This record gives sequence, C-alpha cells and structure tokens, in this order.
Amino acid sequence: MTLRSYIFAFIFALIPALAAAQRLPEGVTPQHYALSFTPDLQKATFSGEETIDVQIVKQTHAITLNSAELEFQQAEVTQGDKTQIAQTSFDTEKQQATLTVPADLQAGPAAIHINFTGILNDKLRGFYLAKTKLRNYAITQFESTDARRAFPSFDEPALKATFDIALTIDQADTAISNGKITSDTPGPGEGKHTLKFSQTARMSTYLVAMAVGDFTCNEGSADNVPIRVCGTPDKKPLGATALRYAEEILQYYNSYYGIPYPFGKLDIVGAPDFEAGAMENTGAIFYRESDLFIDDKHSSVSSHQEVFEVLAHEMAHQWFGDLVTMKWWDNIWLNEGFATWMELKPSQALHPEWNAALDGVNASDEALRVDALRNTHPIRARAETPEEIDELFDSISYQKGAAVLRMVESYVSPDVFRRGVNAYLRKFQYSNASAEDFWNAIAAVSGRPVDKIMPTFVEQAGEPLITVKASCAAAPPEPKVRSRRRRRARRIAPAQPKTEISLEQTRFWLDASNAPANSTTWMVPLCVKAANAKPFCQIVGQKESVLPVAGGCSPWLFVNANAMGYYRTRYDGDALQKLTAVATTELSTAERLSLLNDEGALVLSGQENVANYLNLISALNQDDERAIVESYLAGLRLVHDDLLTEASKPAFLAWVRSNFSPMFAKLGWTPVAGETDDRHEVRALLIQILGEIGEDPEVINHAVALAGQYSKDETAIDPSLVRGVLEVAAMSNDAGLFQQYMEAMSNPKSSPEQLSDYSRGLDRFSDPKLTEQWLERIIGPETRSQDAAGYLGRVLQNPAAQKMAWEWTKQHWSEVAGKLTTGSGFAIVNATSHFCSANMRNEVEQFFSDHKVAATSRSLKQSMEMMDSCIHFQARQQPNLTAWLEQHASNASAGAR
Ligand SMILES: [Zn+2]
Repeated sequence: MTLRSYIFAFIFALIPALAAAQRLPEGVTPQHYALSFTPDLQKATFSGEETIDVQIVKQTHAITLNSAELEFQQAEVTQGDKTQIAQTSFDTEKQQATLTVPADLQAGPAAIHINFTGILNDKLRGFYLAKTKLRNYAITQFESTDARRAFPSFDEPALKATFDIALTIDQADTAISNGKITSDTPGPGEGKHTLKFSQTARMSTYLVAMAVGDFTCNEGSADNVPIRVCGTPDKKPLGATALRYAEEILQYYNSYYGIPYPFGKLDIVGAPDFEAGAMENTGAIFYRESDLFIDDKHSSVSSHQEVFEVLAHEMAHQWFGDLVTMKWWDNIWLNEGFATWMELKPSQALHPEWNAALDGVNASDEALRVDALRNTHPIRARAETPEEIDELFDSISYQKGAAVLRMVESYVSPDVFRRGVNAYLRKFQYSNASAEDFWNAIAAVSGRPVDKIMPTFVEQAGEPLITVKASCAAAPPEPKVRSRRRRRARRIAPAQPKTEISLEQTRFWLDASNAPANSTTWMVPLCVKAANAKPFCQIVGQKESVLPVAGGCSPWLFVNANAMGYYRTRYDGDALQKLTAVATTELSTAERLSLLNDEGALVLSGQENVANYLNLISALNQDDERAIVESYLAGLRLVHDDLLTEASKPAFLAWVRSNFSPMFAKLGWTPVAGETDDRHEVRALLIQILGEIGEDPEVINHAVALAGQYSKDETAIDPSLVRGVLEVAAMSNDAGLFQQYMEAMSNPKSSPEQLSDYSRGLDRFSDPKLTEQWLERIIGPETRSQDAAGYLGRVLQNPAAQKMAWEWTKQHWSEVAGKLTTGSGFAIVNATSHFCSANMRNEVEQFFSDHKVAATSRSLKQSMEMMDSCIHFQARQQPNLTAWLEQHASNASAGAR
C-alpha cells in the first residue's frame, strides 16, 4: 500500500503487550472460495453467497472464521454427502464468527456455505460506497483486516487460497476484480447482468478486490500482459501517462525479478474516494485519483515522478507481497520496506533525469528522524489487533525498511543482492515467508554475514550515531640512505604516516538533552572515503573501534561513502571544518546530501551548533541539485519557524535572500528550451525558499501576478512552478486571490493535480478571516472525506495560521470528527507535532485526552515528544543563531567596505 504523505510522518510507541490476541484457532485451512455478490449502489447494501472449500486437520464440531458487520442468513457445512445446518455465534470484539454443527466433522475436506448481507459503508474500508456528483460506486479496500467486512473469511495473510468471484450489477455498469472477465450473462433480475472472473492464483484475503461502476479504461500491454488504466469516464484523457509508465515498469520488473509477471492481466483503477495512496490488490491495483491521473503535457515534473514511483511501488508488490507474502503482520516491512526500496529502481534505470537515487538519501533521512525518537519501534514489531496492525504502516516499516535494504544491497553489491532476491522469491512463491527466510537467502548467495547484520537493524529500535575522530600516526623514522641509487637497490619504501579513525557507536536521539541510558550496538557496514585511499567498507560491531586508512595522512575523511548507510555521523569540529572545505570537490552529491542531513539532525538534537549548519549551507551555496535544495528548504524551514525572534528575523531573512538570490537569478522565472527536469524543480524550490523562508516581497508579488494569470489560463506558467507559486502567492493574503483558489476548488474542470495544488495554496493563507472560510469548507459537504483531515493537518502546520487553526479545530471538533475516515485522524494529531510552545503542548495533551481519536494514542505521545524536543531546540539554538547572524552581518559589512 502507498500511504498519503501525512501518514509517513506518524509514529508510535511500542505495542502494549497485553493487547488481546485475535488470531483464528488452528485446525481448519481454506483452499478455495467461490464468492458472488449483488451490491445495491442506491441503498448502499450488498448481499453475498460463498462456498469455502476447507481442509479440516483434526476432528471438530466448530469452525471459526472472521466476520465483521455482516449478517448471516444461513450457514451450512458439507462433508462427503452430508450437509449440516450450522448454528452461528459472533464475537464482535474479535471480529469472529463460529459455526457449530451437531455431528463432528472428520479430518479431511469439507465445504462451508454461507448466505450473508452487509452494508456499503462510508468509512473507505471493506466493501464501501464511493460517490461523485453524478453517481455512486462500490469499491474495496481490505488491507489489513477488512476483507471480513465483505465476506466471512479466514482473514489472515498466511491462509492463502484461490478465489472465484462473480458480481451481479446494473446492466449499464461494469466491474473490475483480480481476474479477467470470463463470462457476462443477463440477470438474475431485470436490468442486471452477472460478470464472472477467472480464478485467481493462491493469495491472501487482503488482496481480493472489486470495483463496480461506469469505469472506462485506457488499454495497452507489455510483454504480452494486458494492462488497463481505468477510472470514472471523465478521467480517461488523464490515464494515458500512467499506462505508458506501467508498461515500462512491467518490462523492467520481468527482467529484474527473473519471474515473469505472475497474474495474467493488470488493471490499475482510480477510485473516486480512496483513503490510502494506492493498494496493490493482485492484478487490480486501486488508487486515489490524484496519484494516478495526470495531464501528460500540463503536469509538473514531480507529479510525473510521483505517478511513476507509486506505480513502481504497487507493481513491485505484485512480487513482494502478493506472490510472496509475510507470514504475519509483524513482518509487514517484508512487503512495504521492499516495495519502497524497489520503487526507485525502475525510476533510476528508465528515467535517470529524475535522479531518484538522491531521493533515496532524503527518504532514509525521513526514517532516521522518526527512529531518533524514544517512542520509535523496531521494524519487526508485535501486532495482534487490527488497530495495532494498522499502526505498523508507518515510516519505520516503509522508509527504514527500505534504507536497511539499500545499505545491505550496497554492501554485498547490487548483482549479488538481486540473485539473493530472486532465489528468495522462487523459493517462497505463492506462499509466505519471514524475515529470517530473507536474510538467510541473501547470506547464502553473498557469503557475507547479512544474517548477523540485518537482525541488529530489524529487531532493535533506533539508529546508530557514529562519532568520528581522526588522527595521523607519525611515521617511524626513515633509515638514513646515502644515495638514491642505494635506496632503489635496497627497495626501501619511504615510510608513510597513516590515518587512524577512532569510531564510537552510540544510539542517536532526537533530543540528546533528554536521552535515556542505552547501550545498543549495531553491526554497521561502515564505508570510508579519504584522500589518496580507495573507498572501503568494514563491519563495525563494537562500541569503540579503530580503523587504519592507507594512503598517508588524509586531510579529510568521510565515513558514509555513497551515502548508503543507515546511521548518523558526527565529526569533531576540526574534521567537520576540513570536510566542509572539500565537500563540493571531494564528495558526491549523495554524500554531500547525507552530510547536510546529518548536520541538520545534530543541530536539532543539540549536538551541533546551528552556526556550523548554516556555515555548511553557505559553503555549498552553489550546489543546486534538486535533492540538495530540498534539504535546504526543510532545514531552513525549521530555523524560520522555530528559532526566529523579532530581533533576529530581519538579519536571517536578509541572509536567506542574499544566499539564494544569485542561484535563482541564474535560473530566472521562466524556463528556457531544453532545460533538464531538475532545473524546473529547482526553480520551484528556490521560489519557495525565497518566498516562504526569505519572505522576499518581490518574489511574493511576482508569485501573486503569476497565480492570477494561471487561474485564468492554466498554460500561463510552467507546470512545475504551479504548486510553489500558488503557495508563495498565498502569503500575500490577497482576498481576491483567495476567492480564485476557492472557485478553482469547486470547478468541475479542475484536474486532481490542480485540486491538490489549490488546496496547498489555501493552506498557506494566514489572514484569520480567509483561513476560517477555508476551514469551514474543509468540514463542509464539498470536501471529500478522503481529503478533509489532510487539508486541516496542513493548515495546522502553517506557522502563521496554526494558533488560529488550532483554536478553530477545538471549537469545531464535532464537525471535524464527523469527517474522519478509518485512519485519517492521524493527520490532525500528527500535525500538532509541529507546535513549539509549552502552552500549546499542554493544550494538545489535554484536548486529545478529552477527545479520543481512534488509533492515535501512541501517535499523540510522539507529537508530545516532538513538541518537547522543539522547546529544547529553541532554547538551545536561539542564542547560537543570534550570535551567528551578528557575526555574519559584520562579516558582510566588512566585505562591503
Ligand atoms: Zn506498499
């Protein structure tokens, strides 16, 4: 599954050990389901009938399976030629139904037959109702534990079976499911027809999919696999790009995995209402529209990249997740870490212009930030209840899982890693696997201790901080040599001094001033780069170790060569200065980016002075790679939002403008022909840095003019500039502009991408009168429930609007709560992690203890921890910033003289 970005940011505590286990009893295993459904899209109900062929392991008179919000009309169990009516009892809390028959069932095959009815709910899970202004649709979203809301089932990932599915629907409608349509017959009932789908491969229940409505499709194929991109009829013109990308990706994966795409056909369906980003149902990937439908010519580079990479993620799951599935949800990283690691590969191979490798470095940084909290959790974490399972879909399972895989792949070499991956997939296809199965496969193929390295990162919470000290061991005195000739004859090499690196391994904490005692160590594949020495990697498993480096006394050292390591680094003052001086000449872009991100994290934790971070940005100031500029924006936003005082603000804004204006001047507002994709994106980022962080009135005014032109003519500006321009223009709080954005949100012609861009613009207004209008609309009928919490969360993150928006949220809580879907409450609770004052911290704690949001008690603790840490960050770094700005201002004026 691909989550919305707000979910990536949510984080949670260790699962309480007392949660009630909700697993099915062992003893009955499903082999095959025959399912037929008749949904009623007007009444928002459905009826269903199923036969489950099961294997009974041990004589019994009771069978327990999962069921939630379903009513059973009749249940029978047949064994041999004997059919018995079953008594049904329900355990609502465990979401289970038990069928009891009068006479014992013997070990061997049996068949369960159930007639049932259910509701098409409005919570975007199970079998649910989605609506457009024109009509209703029925859609499924089953991961993690919601197949049981559509049909009684053995709803656990290891209980794989095959499925025959039939849907009886309105004559004018069609349906999409995991298999191909094999028959289409009229009735039963007037105005209806019944579609039957081909039998699926053996798979888990959470991957079953159905969509009913007037979908229209763009059709294509790759390697003889039919591929369709489908949606509501108006979206057809926007599906061609995704289809082209899906064709490219399928061919790439067929070659990478060495197992051809296993599921016959691939449908990719944009659903009008969808909570997650997308869901990898076997052969039928379902999507939120804004992540799928773009206008080939009028979409930004980042939208193209995002559509491509989300497709690459979901399609990677067809092998990692669908073909080979984790045994239980505690290993969800085997699905999500892998798909997240894999999603960048086709992008790097087929679209090198997007530089996806650098996005991998920034994604690792995202995981490292969450993993630095006291309330992080191990990648593999206990999860028993549906709520606990859903909470595991976070940036630890996704981004940390991917980062650890990247590190190990780089350590054993990509070719060897791929051979291990292929062996693992072949061994466990159509079945289930555990973490051990994976690292044993890579260890066997590589001959390296991957089975020792990976458990330290997968089973332990947190991340290593490697503190580096370098020394130069003096050379032994050179023997006296009389002449060059004699020296050559005696082959005496000139004695060389050598560099020694002393490494200390500790656990890195977001707030070092508040760190608990901890003695965790990891088996770190540490990679070293130095002047005059070949880069090398070595496993560092001790708390302290010393590494010699050949090639004489190196003037500088870098201990995360290729930026593939999942660890933070800290250099002592002297080593950092030397590294800063050679960063642009000796380090690769990825390495500079990891240094910049590590220094930013050290500043937050209180282990580095913000002055050194700003010095590093100044030293890199001509480094305008997109990923680096993204990192500047994120780091400077923290300084801007949390450290400025009335007194320090003017000097900081002046520094931002003087530092970044020359870079922007080189690019200008308008793209020139033949520019790279990166240039388009960098221009947009610089407009944000100068407008949002530098608050440059010229940039804001120009953005206002461009936003006005854009609202009249969508071709008026470069598509890649739209989002940044709309956001920066909103800082003007221009009421006319606000109305234009609001009208665009109501315009049926606005594309999903435009709706997303305008909503982000609306989130950036801060005039209370305007913000209030936007907030009212967020809870009103015009805003889809899939979007509401995300929009509100972003207003709460806007430092200029957050106080007012927080007051408003408290006052309008009952309407806000009414808009929440199953998992969207996280967006609001998590947004409060951006508050940075003791008052607001206390208010948040009080408010959410009085107003519980489902499944957010742990993410609330995370927000509290981040607010506490921000308060410390502010107290520690504000004086450092002021001192740096004073010095910087005097330097600047000295330079001017
Ligand atoms: Zn996924």
